[in-house]
Amino acid sequence: MIFMQGKGISSGIAKGNIYFLPCPAPAAHKIPVSDMEAEKARLAAAQEKAAAQLEELAEKCRREAGSECADLFAAQAMLAVDESYTERARGILEEERCSAEYAAETAGKEIAAVFAAMDSAYMQARADDIRDVAGRILNNLAGVPDTVIDSGEPVILAADELAPSELVRHKSRLSGLLTRKGSGDSHTAILARTMGIPAVCGLGGSLKEAYAGHMCCMDGGTGQVVLDPDGITAAAFEQKDQEQRERERLLEAVRGQRDVTPDGRELTVCCNISSPEDVDAVLASDGHEIGLFRSEFLFLASGDCPTEEEQFCAYSAAASAMNGGRVVIRTLDIGSDKQADYFRLPEEQNPALGVRGVRFCLSRPEVFHTQLRAIYRASACGKVAVMFPMITSVWEVRECRRACREVMAELDAEGIPYDRDIETGIMIETPASVLIAGELAREADFFSVGTNDLTQYILACDRQADGLDRFRDSHHPAVLRALKMAADAAHAAGIRIGVCGELAADPEMLEFFLAIGIDELSVAPPAVLPLRAQIRGRHSEQTDSVICETKNAGENEQE
Ligand code: PEP
Ligand code: MG
Repeated sequence: MIFMQGKGISSGIAKGNIYFLPCPAPAAHKIPVSDMEAEKARLAAAQEKAAAQLEELAEKCRREAGSECADLFAAQAMLAVDESYTERARGILEEERCSAEYAAETAGKEIAAVFAAMDSAYMQARADDIRDVAGRILNNLAGVPDTVIDSGEPVILAADELAPSELVRHKSRLSGLLTRKGSGDSHTAILARTMGIPAVCGLGGSLKEAYAGHMCCMDGGTGQVVLDPDGITAAAFEQKDQEQRERERLLEAVRGQRDVTPDGRELTVCCNISSPEDVDAVLASDGHEIGLFRSEFLFLASGDCPTEEEQFCAYSAAASAMNGGRVVIRTLDIGSDKQADYFRLPEEQNPALGVRGVRFCLSRPEVFHTQLRAIYRASACGKVAVMFPMITSVWEVRECRRACREVMAELDAEGIPYDRDIETGIMIETPASVLIAGELAREADFFSVGTNDLTQYILACDRQADGLDRFRDSHHPAVLRALKMAADAAHAAGIRIGVCGELAADPEMLEFFLAIGIDELSVAPPAVLPLRAQIRGRHSEQTDSVICETKNAGENEQE
């Protein structure tokens, strides 16, 4: 037995074999090469190897998982040595006199783009296959081992660190997640909580690749991981799992109840989602509204920019499944740690301070326009609101709203139905937005505080980086005062304010949120019932004492 201790970032007990995800090959650069024959031979060998790997996978699937999965890999095996791909890659090698890595990747991108532009959905889906196969050839050239999870059983995925898009890609095959690096505020951690996948990060060097294939038990709450558990240890984890299930069963008592304190104050509990499929989890956990739909994950899950129709399908599916419950769709918050290759964003020194969120949308008006059309069209299928991320200035909100008006005029002209009263809100997640909250409140229909980014930017503390836990304190008085300033500004202007960052689910924060008059908390679906139970169980005297303590803490800090 080997014990490891990391940081629990998504609660729950999981058990399974470890699957170690190797680091993918870095993007290929155009390196000049003189021996073209040697490069051609390397390319051919990597293609042959990819085909053999995929045939082997197809065979394994045929034995263990059925013909549909087997056919997929068999088709990919053919693509790996496909004539037009080979011709194009060799052509690039000769034209550019570059490395096989660059030729393999570029040929894959070019051919995938041709498929993605076709009208048929079937052909468009082939673009993903081509990208996958080209990525496999690139990995073979770089000596990176295979990355397909081919186990029939869900695995505990282990990695150095995991990009949000990779978690999305592997989610159906995971029972748990372990990483050497990472933080609880990263988007990967947030996604794991939304999907209810137990996760532990920060295991550092104690998590070894040699553990691949070993049985492991993990607790995503405490961060405890045990490799090759003996019978007693496995039984202890099993018992903990039972206890958690029993707690969940007891929480059923508040299902269907209102989010109201014993002294009659309403604090609406909503859910955060990242895809229309998450709506099932929202309904299962009795969430009545969606306070944050992180639309960028639709873009990350796809090899190409989703079309208006694809986006409309996703947004309208969520809106209609919520049966009149409001769905706040946040416009594309791409950039920083959420990168989609096809946008070809230039590399930035400080991506968290770069072209992300609304900055991206305002600099790519065609992408923004398409997304807004899809959102407005979806508003005819349910109650939808729009929200803009990363706001720092009044002019940004005005430009966003102008883009909305343009879309409305266009839909009117085309006779396409939409909700004329759709609300447009903004995220308060930068220090600038707090400092000018009064002005912003006159431009927006509602505020939602993104405490993950607000903490990062106020405390100058990277939300992704490990080793900063001590400094990245969302309870810091500066963050709490920013929340109160934003709440005061919202209420002075007569608009509602919610919190949709991870702090919203923190049980220690509830009294503070009530004290400053927060109207809405938006949390991962598994957190809805525990939060509702806490709201319904509290007493008014506690609020008074917390208001006093908050004031005192603020005064002491100032001294
Ligand atoms: C936040 O920053 O708190 C937030 C809700 O947005 P995201 O985590 O997606 O950046
Ligand atoms: Mg944010």
